[in-house]
Amino acid sequence: MVLAQLGGSISRALQQMSNATIIDEKVLNDCLNEITRALLQSDVQFKLVRDMQTNIKKIVNLDDLAAGHNKRRIIQQAVFNELCKILDPGKPAFAPKKGKASVVMFVGLQGSGKTTTCTKYAFYHQKKGWKPALVCADTFRAGAFDQLKQNATKAKIPFYGSYMESDPVKIAVEGVDRFRKENCDLIIVDTSGRHKQEAALFEEMRQVSEATKPDLVIFVMDSSIGQAAFDQAQAFKQSVAVGAVIITKMDGHAKGGGALSAVAATKSPVIFIGTGEHMDEFEVFDVKPFVSRLLGMGDISGFMDKIHEVVPMDQQPELLQKLSEGNFTLRIMYEQFQNILKMGPIGQVFSMLPGFSSELMPKGREKESQAKIKQLDSSNPKLMNDSRMMRIARGSGRQIRDVMEMMEEYKRLAKIWSKMKGLKIPKKGEMSALSRNMNA
Ligand code: GDP
Repeated sequence: MVLAQLGGSISRALQQMSNATIIDEKVLNDCLNEITRALLQSDVQFKLVRDMQTNIKKIVNLDDLAAGHNKRRIIQQAVFNELCKILDPGKPAFAPKKGKASVVMFVGLQGSGKTTTCTKYAFYHQKKGWKPALVCADTFRAGAFDQLKQNATKAKIPFYGSYMESDPVKIAVEGVDRFRKENCDLIIVDTSGRHKQEAALFEEMRQVSEATKPDLVIFVMDSSIGQAAFDQAQAFKQSVAVGAVIITKMDGHAKGGGALSAVAATKSPVIFIGTGEHMDEFEVFDVKPFVSRLLGMGDISGFMDKIHEVVPMDQQPELLQKLSEGNFTLRIMYEQFQNILKMGPIGQVFSMLPGFSSELMPKGREKESQAKIKQLDSSNPKLMNDSRMMRIARGSGRQIRDVMEMMEEYKRLAKIWSKMKGLKIPKKGEMSALSRNMNA
């Protein structure tokens, strides 16, 4: 995952500090320097990093902290809060209302994932009962309309565009008018991205914005953008009234820190992230659970929401009971794997658990893991020794190496599973309180 390395580095710095016998100025400075280095290496803008360090030092004044204060806790909390502050501009984005027509304009550079994201955004709302529509006001890139048309048709979302008309403003106005008449409540305008920032792009965006008067302008940014992110985001903000950010390609391995800078540059919140090329690989973005997951502190409330969403009601108590016991058998693992897979990419699901590192379950490995678990289903791993593995291999016509690999898979998942031991089982409505406890 993007930023996974950053999360890992920060968690390690905090852990090292926790291992120190006493926390003095030197230990604190070492920890902060390590965090600073990690942020800079991830391409977070220098000024943001410096401000963060200064703020933490101001909050954590070791001399002032009376004995008995848990210094580690205070430092960890300060790091958590400062990261949240970078990602939270303090004012929410305009929220369109279902049933009332809103115009949402998408801007961003070509290749950032703008057109894909327009459709994902429309599809997300359509599933929630909205009536979205897509307007292609990109007359610059050949094939832009075809791409939007293809995506929209697949998702059964009405669209508007033209192969002949070369004036993006005219198309945007016509499209918005048509869909207002058709009582669509979310009219999404995709604009041209060109290939780099240039005066003509900004002028065109400004004109489309002036003519369609969008309720919200969303800036789409590729997570792999580096140090240039801040200036680029700011340039967009200066031309049109950017009110929200969507960061795409969060499923990749980019350093991702530039994306954090985009929030600071536009003073607008991230509202969604793109986590894949498919239509439903799109997630609502919440600052605190995200930072919590980034630092390996988990997001139990998100995890519980997922369980309530995908596991059939009658199976929920049993699953939650088993999770809380941390009692892990291959049979449970196999049975529940079906349910867990429904929750989403498994690495993402498990990253909601405290202490989880996304390296434990790389994306794309889930099917493989499931198949391996199925093969091991009837074995009791505690009783597994060399001769038993040999027998299993012979009996199933496999190499001993395959059986050993399956055992490794089991151990890896068992490690994840064991983190759930002692998990309190919240009822709906109790979830946020639980999350607060876990994150405290
Ligand atoms: P545009 O030029 O900004 O409109 O970009 P496109 O929507 O055409 O996307 C450019 C490429 O990025 C396409 O190949 C998309 O499938 C891909 N893409 C968009 N969003 C994501 C994402 O969240 N994850 C991944 N892996 N690929 C994405």
